[in-house]
Amino acid sequence: MKYSLGIDLGTTFSVMSVIDEKGVPKVLKNSEGKTLTPSVIYFDEADIVVGDEAKEQQAMGDLNVAAFFKRNIGDEYFSLNFGEKYYSAEDLSTIMLKKLKKDAETELNTEIKDAVITVPAYFNNSQREATINAGKAAGFNVLSIINEPTAAAIAYGIKKDDEEKNLLVYDLGGGTFDVTLVHIDKESIKVLGTDGDHELGGKDWDDRIAVYLGEKFAEKFGINPLEDIEFYNDILVKAENAKKQLSAREKAEVTICCNEFKGKFEITRKIFESITGDLLERTRRLSEDVLQGAGISFADLSGVLPVGGSTRMPMVLNFVKEVSGKEVITGINVDEAVSIGAAIEASSQAKDQGKPVFTLGSYKKTEDVMSHSLGMAAISKDGTKYINSIIIPKNKKIPCTEKRPYAIRTGRNRDNSLDVYMLQGESEDISNSSILGKYTFYDITHVRGKQAVIDIEYAYNKNGVVTVAAAERETGKVLPLRIEKCEENLSWLYETPKEEEETIHRNIILAIDLSGSMRGKPLEQAINAARNFISEIDIKNSSVGLVAFADKVESVCELKDNASEILEAIDNLKQVKVGTSTTSEPFTKAQEMFKNADGDCFILVLTDGQWYGKTDVIGIAEECKKEGIEISAIGLGSAKKEFLDKIASCRENAILTEAINLKQSFSKIARVISESYGSLKMFQGYGQKSDALQILK
Ligand code: AMP
Repeated sequence: MKYSLGIDLGTTFSVMSVIDEKGVPKVLKNSEGKTLTPSVIYFDEADIVVGDEAKEQQAMGDLNVAAFFKRNIGDEYFSLNFGEKYYSAEDLSTIMLKKLKKDAETELNTEIKDAVITVPAYFNNSQREATINAGKAAGFNVLSIINEPTAAAIAYGIKKDDEEKNLLVYDLGGGTFDVTLVHIDKESIKVLGTDGDHELGGKDWDDRIAVYLGEKFAEKFGINPLEDIEFYNDILVKAENAKKQLSAREKAEVTICCNEFKGKFEITRKIFESITGDLLERTRRLSEDVLQGAGISFADLSGVLPVGGSTRMPMVLNFVKEVSGKEVITGINVDEAVSIGAAIEASSQAKDQGKPVFTLGSYKKTEDVMSHSLGMAAISKDGTKYINSIIIPKNKKIPCTEKRPYAIRTGRNRDNSLDVYMLQGESEDISNSSILGKYTFYDITHVRGKQAVIDIEYAYNKNGVVTVAAAERETGKVLPLRIEKCEENLSWLYETPKEEEETIHRNIILAIDLSGSMRGKPLEQAINAARNFISEIDIKNSSVGLVAFADKVESVCELKDNASEILEAIDNLKQVKVGTSTTSEPFTKAQEMFKNADGDCFILVLTDGQWYGKTDVIGIAEECKKEGIEISAIGLGSAKKEFLDKIASCRENAILTEAINLKQSFSKIARVISESYGSLKMFQGYGQKSDALQILK
């Protein structure tokens, strides 16, 4: 029998599960006969020991022990030295995963390749990539990585009734805190929002007890044992034990030895709660942010699902109850839920491979989100500094893709390339974002006389990992990509940008004929084409407005540079009522809308027939052109090329087409607009080799 493994690779403990032959989730035991494997590694002179024995060595103060390394995964500067070797957090996670793989194979008596590994929802790109790499290095075929709270919701969601509900998954583990809002219905589990703090977890509660005990010891004996690393580790282990005792009892006693001194100290639950209250407050703020972001109040919640070992602390459950006003959901094993969810997910992905499939309840499809916005280095509107320009906002459903065009001046016999600095984080301030790297697209074909337009696609894949790809619009050629970590000097990011070329803003009005004959299919195609048009223009340097016309003319959307608002207005075109025959014209309305606009002005008219109005349409179009407004005209159905030629600025800007080809026609106009002079901002190299470092305003 073949199995896929669900692995909860925890900061303090790891757990693994499978779906067994009966289709039921089963938590596997490790070689020590336990379901929880401490995520602790001991480097003996000859051996590497993982789990309980390593934790015991840590308790005895041995320094050859690695623990809590999950907190540093993806950090290229983190490494620990044991014996002759240096280990990154990824290497240490590989060692952990190898142990889990071997133990699972022994328990099930078969080789296991496929695995789903869970990660905190708050993990960023490098942490996710490092986790996948650790899985591969341990010999797994990593089917996917999924967010821990989502996995917990999967484990919970399958067991319960089919009632629709909003749940807050409150996941406080050993080293991380994640809070996630999920909507569960009959068929699916949808994550509505997530946030967290990867430096907040049970360990912080241990540290507070350790500090308290250290101070008490110092008061009594005049030395603080925490200042000596050997005693420090011992106290940390004792602090964690005391914390666990305080989950069951009102007080705990701890004996501490340091040098020739030995003392017994008591800590009560009340003191414990008073020295850690601020940690709980941090979880409250993050929970409120997630709810607010999704427009949901505590009152709209059906309940709170506690996950992670630290939710065993009574203070946590009381706090959650008090803050949410909701009962805390009981009955799920807080240690095992995440790995069970991962096993269910793994079995659903391995359906046709003769492996056991989950049969206990109905499997629900999951929709997840990413907790970090994806951005790039751009120049602020006032041109004074570099900012993080967000391309994919956080909490957007994954996988997702966004496309943005860049115009670049190319040269003959030059290495024509384009550098993009990718960032992850919410703040506009680049120093508060993590820089994922420099993405260089090279081998760009030289275009004579005008700028080459490069369409870049930014995406989060199903694992929440960033992928970036680019193609030349002119030739369709997919550009080769080189990704470099940002070890080089990034100081220019903090300097005032030097403007080399003035950026000219573009104002574009889409004027759509909404007469009776456009209704139905043609309008649907027009909406799709207009949506695509928005993705193909440089929206950062453009404003787009929307005009509908038939018997009367209406401004459906004033000039805006917010893509999502424009897209919403385009989608709402179906609801706009302006009559059935085309007796009005859109140019006068467009002129009005351009009145206070700075920069170049364009009108793109879409029509499917004759205009019967008494006004001199061609004369008004001429007037617009004299004012410097460029007009493009796309015709469908009974529209005449002759008429389109007359209203458009030039014959190339007049296109007679069919509804099915509207997308291409709109694209062509988008290209004309992008390539017109004054387009995207360009900056010369900043000491880089590449032809141009181009950053969007
Ligand atoms: P996890 O990362 O979900 O495995 O959670 C591990 C964390 O839960 C560690 O910080 C443990 O000390 C903590 N933990 C486990 N059991 C208890 C307990 N009974 N009371 C308080 N904390 C606990």
